[in-house]
Amino acid sequence: MRIVVLGAGFGGLEVSTRLSEELGDAANVVLIDRAESFVFGFSKLDVMFGRTTPKAVLHPYADVVKPGVQFVRTDVISIDPATRRVDTGAGPFDADVLVVALGADVHPAATPGLVEGGHEFYTVSGAFATRDILESFHGGRVIVGVTSTPFKCPPAPSETALLVHDHLTARGLRDRSEISLVMPLGAPIPPSPAASEALLATFAERGIGWFPNRLIRKLDSTRHVAVLTDGAELPYDLFLGVPVHRVPRVVAESGMCVDGWIPVDPLTLETAFPDVYAVGDVTSVGTPKAGVFAEGQAKVVADAILARHRDDADLATYDGYGVCYLEFGKDQVATVGVRFRSGEPPVGDLKGPSIRIADDKSEFGSSRIRRWFGKEWAEP
Ligand SMILES: Cc1cc2nc3c(=O)[nH]c(=O)nc-3n(C[C@H](O)[C@H](O)[C@H](O)COP(=O)(O)OP(=O)(O)OC[C@H]3O[C@@H](n4cnc5c(N)ncnc54)[C@H](O)[C@@H]3O)c2cc1C
Repeated sequence: MRIVVLGAGFGGLEVSTRLSEELGDAANVVLIDRAESFVFGFSKLDVMFGRTTPKAVLHPYADVVKPGVQFVRTDVISIDPATRRVDTGAGPFDADVLVVALGADVHPAATPGLVEGGHEFYTVSGAFATRDILESFHGGRVIVGVTSTPFKCPPAPSETALLVHDHLTARGLRDRSEISLVMPLGAPIPPSPAASEALLATFAERGIGWFPNRLIRKLDSTRHVAVLTDGAELPYDLFLGVPVHRVPRVVAESGMCVDGWIPVDPLTLETAFPDVYAVGDVTSVGTPKAGVFAEGQAKVVADAILARHRDDADLATYDGYGVCYLEFGKDQVATVGVRFRSGEPPVGDLKGPSIRIADDKSEFGSSRIRRWFGKEWAEP
């Protein structure tokens, strides 16, 4: 049984690792990604705020050496979910089971003025470039703004606003600066009232302006003004934006999407096409677009494939649970454990913030690198 896994992010790495751990050389997995290296989403913020170097957060796929897994670095050019044939820059691949884990692409150019007048920090190159922008910023009005929904890691804009506060404070620029956070949500983390309250209290304490239930419609780069969806205008000197998200074009063209994302069974991650699964940001499964959820979904898919190998009828189902780390600034991190079950309102708790949880977050990353790449993460 040949398993072809498209995308080596959180979802694709977890499916491949679990199959390799359980089946060894018999796993017969082809893992395809166009990127040279894997980067955690949270590492983008670490680089941007000068907490680490770009080199330290790039994990080359060349290091993925796993029994039964062949990593192919190439572009996925087309996907036929009916025949499970995939065309790539390295030729066609036919799958008995296909797992689509291609994530969400971001499109800064889809928001008028963002490319000319602002900076996005959601791509690897955008986040790394923003590090230099922040270093040469001499203070002024900063906006952290979201341009559309859905977007990856809903806590990330709140974390960014708090880290901008720390950055400007450390450089003696906070007194002559303003920070505003524009978010489409009514609360920073809607499923967790405790986390939302703690964040709102921290914004108030640190003088961060909170603009809920709105998006950034466009930037007027000549007047240095952000126009919000309610028509309000906010002047800025530095704009840090979360761009429009969409499925990768190859997924859009595959015929698998409904309303822009791949629908899946929320318990099994099966798509409408037999033996084709989809996990993570590329789906409309109903969980937030975050790595921890992609990973949880990947485990369920790997277990379904293992059950087939073993003629086992007992299938684990996806429980919609994930624990997200939440940077509060001042080296403090909290966790928010959230459960998203279809047909039920999501519920979330809050632990921390504390410095101890910051250490747990670091171990979260290291443990993934150990399992997925078989090496220690040598941070500088
Ligand atoms: C600033 C920021 C902070 C974040 N912080 C967190 C956090 O603290 N915790 C958390 O859980 N999540 C966080 N996230 C979100 C997290 O990074 C994503 O939700 C997660 O990576 C999704 O996993 P995935 O497997 O679905 O897709 P991805 O990890 O995006 O992987 C998709 C892969 O597909 C590849 N690909 C796409 N198209 C093609 C193609 N045509 N051909 C070949 N390869 C292709 C890409 O190169 C990529 O490697 C953060 C995101 C950002 C931007």
